Amino acid sequence: MPELPEVETVRRGLEANTIGYRIAGGEVLLDRTVAYPETGAAFLAGLSGATFRQWRRRGKYLLADLDRADGTVCGFGVHLRMTGQLLWCDRAAPLQKHTRVRLFVELNPATRVNPSEEDTDRNDRPLERELRFVDTRTFGQMWWIPAGIAEPEIVTGLRKLGPEPLSAEFTVAAFATALAHRKRPIKNALLDQAIVAGVGNIYADEALFLSGIRSTTLCCDLTPAEIERLRDNVVCVLKDSIALGGTTFSDFVGVTGTNGRYGGIARVYNRTGQPCPVCQTSIERIRLAGRSAHFCPQCQPKG
Ligand SMILES: [Zn+2]
Repeated sequence: MPELPEVETVRRGLEANTIGYRIAGGEVLLDRTVAYPETGAAFLAGLSGATFRQWRRRGKYLLADLDRADGTVCGFGVHLRMTGQLLWCDRAAPLQKHTRVRLFVELNPATRVNPSEEDTDRNDRPLERELRFVDTRTFGQMWWIPAGIAEPEIVTGLRKLGPEPLSAEFTVAAFATALAHRKRPIKNALLDQAIVAGVGNIYADEALFLSGIRSTTLCCDLTPAEIERLRDNVVCVLKDSIALGGTTFSDFVGVTGTNGRYGGIARVYNRTGQPCPVCQTSIERIRLAGRSAHFCPQCQPKG
């Protein structure tokens, strides 16, 4: 499942490729993918004619601002959920098996930021590109946000998000307050998007390992020093992974199809039975909050 570093990798790919392209229609192949408006047709009508200006990220949500011909700005939101992929491809490229939405784009000569030879074919005509959404498990969601309406009104999940871990809001004090007196395992708290936005299974396991904290330790049993260490390691693993283009274990790819390389340096995630990189003890896996938690029983003693 894509977590913050994977979504950030996609955001950077979208920012590098789509800015200055105008949506010229498209195709919704699975209506359920469109969370707002009610129909695929209304979604395409809302986006058509609008030009990508910038891509932002909040937690695991991708949010685009688009300039419309009438001078207003509308929005476009995407959540990849478990298996969603946003791919920047030639319109003529064969459709992937689980293609759900296609947004056809054309170069808007007035706004293209980085004109390059690649944008035209031999006859100097703009290449026909599209932004394609491929999603095997079909949990992915998209929203069109009409001009003048606040994003959380439409993308309601945004209302519940806690601080961005790579922003100044994610202080040790804020983290400590969110965890104080909670009688639930710290791993579950890290996966709670209201406590910190964007962390999922991979980076929760890695940050807990680096902090020497067992996944099952109750939040209320953590010392102030442990909370500070954990906060710092959450930031650290997310930054390291962004630098490597995220983690590819199954479905995640960047917008141009590249794999993330963080999996190669993960210390405990997906390494059940392998030696701990610090003490050589076998990494163990348990079920927690319906997910697998990986840890070293030696380096992460029971709390
Ligand atoms: Zn160890």
